[in-house]
Amino acid sequence: MLFQEDSWGLNALVEENMTQQELSNLYKEYADQFAGNEFVFGCGCTDAKLLLIGEAPGREEVKLSRPFSGAAGKNLDEFLQIAEIVREEIYITNAIKYRLSKVSPKTGRLSNRPATRDEIVSSRVFLLKEIELISPTWVVTLGNVPLRAVMGDFTLSIGNMHGKAVYEKIGKKKLMIFPLYHPASVIYNQSLKQTCQADILKLRDIVISL
Ligand code: URA
Repeated sequence: MLFQEDSWGLNALVEENMTQQELSNLYKEYADQFAGNEFVFGCGCTDAKLLLIGEAPGREEVKLSRPFSGAAGKNLDEFLQIAEIVREEIYITNAIKYRLSKVSPKTGRLSNRPATRDEIVSSRVFLLKEIELISPTWVVTLGNVPLRAVMGDFTLSIGNMHGKAVYEKIGKKKLMIFPLYHPASVIYNQSLKQTCQADILKLRDIVISL
């Protein structure tokens, strides 16, 4: 805490603006390092207790400059509704902050592609700084990419880790990580729906206690 508390909540506002400024500086540094890409940076409440991390933005996200705006965003909104989480009260970002695309040989158009290990590693430094700046109590990772990026361990798999809280020290703070399947995985694999719902209900219990 840098300032004395005041009854107007002004100090909280000053701190929030400082975090916003530091995040903007971090995102500028990121954009310089990965110049030439289409970027979508994190957004939401900068003093949120819950930080949600996806994989990378897609076409819709780039269009609207907002994480989870496309089809995966719709599924995410359903997740949030079940977990009784208000989107505006959390911070949402991606492990990789630019669109991962390739030219589709079929259509000749750009389509999304999975992240490579090198891409995850080179963005990870920034992700960890971003997490430190937001300083949440809980980090919810969506799918393998953010799980591996946050934990720094490529042997981990969401299939084994989903729905169970793990602790990880990031910077000076010990954070609770709650891995969930990626919302898009339900689109491709309907059999995951029940498992995902059970995990989200666990997340709802966590959020109620925050
Ligand atoms: N949109 C995002 O912002 N992230 C994802 O992981 C998927 C879709």
